[in-house]
Amino acid sequence: MFRETITHAGGDSNGTAKESHALMLLRLAASRGDAMEATRTGGARIRWTRGGHSSAIAVRSIVLDPETPVGDLDGATRFLLARINLGDARYEVHPDRRVIAFDDGEAAPVETARLRARRLVAIGGNGRVRLTLSARLGLLAHEHRQAGGGTDGFAMCSCGFTASGPTGEAADAVLCGHRQVVTAAFVDSISAAYGAAIADRR
Ligand SMILES: [Zn+2]
Repeated sequence: MFRETITHAGGDSNGTAKESHALMLLRLAASRGDAMEATRTGGARIRWTRGGHSSAIAVRSIVLDPETPVGDLDGATRFLLARINLGDARYEVHPDRRVIAFDDGEAAPVETARLRARRLVAIGGNGRVRLTLSARLGLLAHEHRQAGGGTDGFAMCSCGFTASGPTGEAADAVLCGHRQVVTAAFVDSISAAYGAAIADRR
């Protein structure tokens, strides 16, 4: 579940968005070419502009914040999430343990419980385990965090992308554009099967 803040002509309005609704908003924004950016908490910001009746350009936005922020995605957590994202993960209940199991092993019960409590994974009606949308957005933002620069017309993304401009702000703007591009590409890459799994959430 996400908190949804919409900024429009009349001000802000707040509500909640189910995962499936958040995905729909992201897909709609991608199809319209709106600027959007994944956030470190596992949410996203969508911005677009509308020409008013006057020459004023109105900026509108939707901010999606997960009710449970993804928190620190350390190396061990990212490794486990990447393993789950391969597609063979399932939730198994045994007399002595509840685990996320793979074709070639299983996650420790304590890790399984932690991922579930942090809402990084969800279990489908068929017992399949998938990453939540917030986990995927949080991972994306982690891969593309500001890694240096921001001064002297130079900025760098943790993925290795570098930006330069006449000022630090200009370089930061280029970096922001880069994050918007990778976020749009991520949304475009979300499979129909994942969308169906989100809709099937129990
Ligand atoms: Zn990057």
